[in-house]
Amino acid sequence: MKLHYYCSNPSCKKLNAIKVKSTNRYDLKQEIGLEINDRCKHCSHHTKRHINRLHASLNYFIIIGGVVLAAIITILIWDLGFVSTLTGTIPIAIWMNEEKRASAFNKIMIRD
Ligand SMILES: [Zn+2]
Repeated sequence: MKLHYYCSNPSCKKLNAIKVKSTNRYDLKQEIGLEINDRCKHCSHHTKRHINRLHASLNYFIIIGGVVLAAIITILIWDLGFVSTLTGTIPIAIWMNEEKRASAFNKIMIRD
């Protein structure tokens, strides 16, 4: 899961991303602890953030992968004489699944 936070340097405030294995904040606490202390990729300023303030967003690589997969399947079954709406639903299903994962992560906060 890719998580984002904003740099705490007032003159930068750029979006940074970290990659974690966890898909919820409880696992994240086990994985990286209660807060991050990461260096900004843009200005090298260290930002301390409680993990409740990290937010997940959609993984567009997975969605693009779904679109490519659907395109390949469409080409493969083209000869069969039907191009179904089925292949169109693949990227949509992947998109919805990613959105569900991200919003589930963002909704659940840890208490301490
Ligand atoms: Zn910065």
